[in-house]
Amino acid sequence: MTRTPLIAGNWKMNLDHLQSIAFVQKLAWSLRDAKHSSAEVEVAVFPPFTDLRSVQTLISADKLDLAHGGQDLSAHDSGAYTGEISGAFLAALECRYVIIGHSERRQYHHEDDALVAAKTVAALRHGVTPVVCVGETAEDLEAHGPSAVPVGQLAAVLAELAPDQEIVVAYEPVWAIGSGQAATPEQAQQVCAALRAEIETALGAEAAQRTRILYGGSVKAANIAGFMKQKDVDGALVGGASLDVDEFSAIARFPKHVGTV
Ligand code: PEP
Repeated sequence: MTRTPLIAGNWKMNLDHLQSIAFVQKLAWSLRDAKHSSAEVEVAVFPPFTDLRSVQTLISADKLDLAHGGQDLSAHDSGAYTGEISGAFLAALECRYVIIGHSERRQYHHEDDALVAAKTVAALRHGVTPVVCVGETAEDLEAHGPSAVPVGQLAAVLAELAPDQEIVVAYEPVWAIGSGQAATPEQAQQVCAALRAEIETALGAEAAQRTRILYGGSVKAANIAGFMKQKDVDGALVGGASLDVDEFSAIARFPKHVGTV
């Protein structure tokens, strides 16, 4: 089964809606000039919530070959949850994806595995594909080795899913995020293979083969090729480098400059 690679840009709390519009236009031009097609590599941007309507309008009006998504959502669908964003609202803005359980949410907002699982189910309820982030801290790595913590985090989500439900998994070692020190391609492959094996155990072989597993953590144009050569790495979740149009576009165009697909 072929899995279309996904290059996802997590803008975190950067770029207001005007800056996002300018960025998306430039990104689309850059990819168009390079004759990029989402059939080959899908590209998605994850702006702040306040930018989503503007980005959606631009992508839809200009028929840009880009997807967009939210950086989080509520486990609840509606009601007295001040500051929360419903999956229904993301769906109404044509979000194809939503990031769930990013390590910054787990660390600063104390999101645990149960909440991450509930948010994943909420996204699926609204037809938005969850990008479920898992990954170990440097301390976890020291104490438990590379796979135990991310596999455990994923298992908590998989326990709530049916085999035909689509999620994307992002393996993001916390020590590699924003540090400039990416995992090696071999380290990424080892954990992504363990995550795929866990999907097979929980949901069966078909789900394991179908599910895209991304690597994230200090990805840039200069190192994307090594990750994409790995059997179980199906794309990248990119933070810092996704804020530079030329760099992000070069990451998305990895097959053209490295010949790995
Ligand atoms: C991230 O925030 O998900 C991330 C991977 O960041 P960076 O690429 O900057 O390490």
